[in-house]
Amino acid sequence: MIVNGPDTEAEHRRDLARYGKWLYRLGFAPGSSGNLSVRVGSDCILATPTGCCKHLLTPADMVMVDLQGCQLSGSKKVTSEIGMHLAVYQTKEDVNAVVHAHPPTATGFACAGRALDEPLCAEAVMTLGPVPLAPYATTGTDELAASLRPLILEHSAILMANHGAVTYGSSLLDAFIKMETLEHFAKICLVADQLGTARPLDQQALGQLLDAKEKYIRNAQ
Ligand SMILES: [Zn+2]
Repeated sequence: MIVNGPDTEAEHRRDLARYGKWLYRLGFAPGSSGNLSVRVGSDCILATPTGCCKHLLTPADMVMVDLQGCQLSGSKKVTSEIGMHLAVYQTKEDVNAVVHAHPPTATGFACAGRALDEPLCAEAVMTLGPVPLAPYATTGTDELAASLRPLILEHSAILMANHGAVTYGSSLLDAFIKMETLEHFAKICLVADQLGTARPLDQQALGQLLDAKEKYIRNAQ
C-alpha cells in the first residue's frame, strides 16, 4: 500500500505521538513496550524514546538519530530497540517508517515457533504478503538486527521468535496498517486452525490476487 506521509519534522513528531497512542489503545504495546520511527530526510531517523508508555508520549519526547544510531537530538534516550529499525532503513531504501509492537495473537504465533506465511485470506495477501519468523535473539542486541536482515528485503512484516513483530512501509500509516492487518490475520489463522479445516488459496487464485496488487500499486503511483 502506498501512503504519502507528512513533510515537516513537526508533523512527523505529531504523527509518532498519535500512532503511539493508537498502538497502545489497541493493546499492541502494553507497559512501555513497542516503538515507532520515521525517516526524516535521507539519513536521519526520528524515533520514540526508551522506557516510555506510548499512550503518554508527546511530540517533544521524540529522539533524532543518524543511520548508525548516534543520537543527534532529544532530551530522552532513544529506544534500545533502534537497531532493529536501522536494519530495516539500511536494507530497504524505500522504507520511510517502522513499527515494532507485541500484538498478542501474532506474538503468540511467534512464541509457538510459527510463521504466518500461509495464503489463507485475500486481504493479508494484498496488504502483507507472507510473514516469516525470524529466529530468537536478545532484545536490544546486534544479534536481533542480524536475525532480521536476511528477511527484510523480501517482506514488509516479520515475526520475531518469542518477542513480537515488526512492520514497515512508505509512511507511518502504511507501517501501522500492516501491524493492524498482521494481528487481524493472526486471529483469523488461529480460528481457522481451531476449526481444523483451513483452506489456503490455490496457486491460480494467488496469481490473480498478486496481479490485482500490482495493478493497484501502479494506479496509486
Ligand atoms: Zn520488543
